[in-house]
Amino acid sequence: MTKRTIILGAALLMAWSLLSPDRAAAQGTPEQQERYIRGIVTGQEAWCQLFSEPGAGSDLAGLATRAEKDGDEWVVTGQKVWTSGGQVADLGMLLARTNPDVPKHQGITYFALDMRQPGIEVRPLREMTGRALFNEVFINEARVSDAAIIGGANNGWAVANTTLAFERAGLGAGGGSAAASTALPGSIGGDLGKRVGDLVRARSRGGSGGPGGVGATFKLLHAVAQQTGAAGDPGVRQDLARLHTLTEIGRYTTLRQKALREAGGDIPGMGNIAKLSMSIILRLSRDLGMRLLGPRGMLHGYDTASSDALADLPSGGLGAMVTDMVLFAQGPQIYGGTDEIQHNIIGERVLGLPKEPNNDKVTPFRDLPRN
Ligand SMILES: Cc1cc2nc3c(=O)[nH]c(=O)nc-3n(C[C@H](O)[C@H](O)[C@H](O)COP(=O)(O)OP(=O)(O)OC[C@H]3O[C@@H](n4cnc5c(N)ncnc54)[C@H](O)[C@@H]3O)c2cc1C
Repeated sequence: MTKRTIILGAALLMAWSLLSPDRAAAQGTPEQQERYIRGIVTGQEAWCQLFSEPGAGSDLAGLATRAEKDGDEWVVTGQKVWTSGGQVADLGMLLARTNPDVPKHQGITYFALDMRQPGIEVRPLREMTGRALFNEVFINEARVSDAAIIGGANNGWAVANTTLAFERAGLGAGGGSAAASTALPGSIGGDLGKRVGDLVRARSRGGSGGPGGVGATFKLLHAVAQQTGAAGDPGVRQDLARLHTLTEIGRYTTLRQKALREAGGDIPGMGNIAKLSMSIILRLSRDLGMRLLGPRGMLHGYDTASSDALADLPSGGLGAMVTDMVLFAQGPQIYGGTDEIQHNIIGERVLGLPKEPNNDKVTPFRDLPRN
């Protein structure tokens, strides 16, 4: 597995969950399904998620980007941040405030925004991994038509929750197998002209919930443990067994959820639990990876040239893959809603525990205190 495969895998693990056609089918009109799903499935069009803002992350409903009606179009102005894949996106799932005079959850609309237009500036943000997976997006009087509203005007909160539910389930433990070995979608990514055989690596086990996502991390750490001789250490063996067990539980849970969905059922909160499980798996993987590499794990090969600094490790080229995973491991417990927010959702929406007291549901957005 090359480093590029790992980088694409990490990026596409997120991208796949954002591009799932299920979500477009769940809330879009037949015309919108016709317009958007084909491009998603074929990879001809890449999407990004324009949700988070400098003042609205966990408190997503507090978003301030506004869209104002102008004939049969809307004029959008505001700033988004942490937009994964924004630099290669043809379209964006935009949440914008369309009515500030009602409580915050009620005045949001969900648009399919054309990213390739004047008025949209995408600025990559460099991460501690050395890459720039996500971006700031500045929107200055960009335009979007009525026909691109998904789920109806001012109904964006419900649509956003559909997106997030799919995202959490897709990102969670057991998800992501489809993402780990494919090309960048869309007209900007530059992979559309490539042959499938150039990009798809063989999978050891097919089917949804396979080992392409977090399962690949177990395989990587298992290989490093063997190559470094640490596989005989009882503590390392115990962590590897725990990692394998958690990964398999995630895989089976995903398969169970999928079967239930196909039969018209659901397990409330399962997407949130899957995402929390993934956070646990990644923290364990990070800690085990650093333990296996020892002090040399503090080095990181940001690019091919500097990854030579890790080449003389007993694990050879795998060392750079471990440090890559270690640095990326902080992200998944934040994106798609932090671990704390997943706990809140399970408590409030699944277990029916009382919410934190506030006036958000009754006070018009424009009268709320803002950060
Ligand atoms: C790698 C990566 C990729 C991302 N990609 C995208 C993307 O493509 N599109 C997009 O729109 N966003 C994206 N995000 C943004 C992500 O969704 C937000 O970072 C996340 O929702 C947290 O928001 P915040 O950063 O504003 O932190 P804050 O909301 O300010 O949270 C700060 C801390 O306070 C805690 N906290 C906040 N509120 C509560 C509460 N009510 N109860 C308990 N604890 C609380 C949080 O858990 C966190 O620990 C990405 C983030 C990362 C790291």
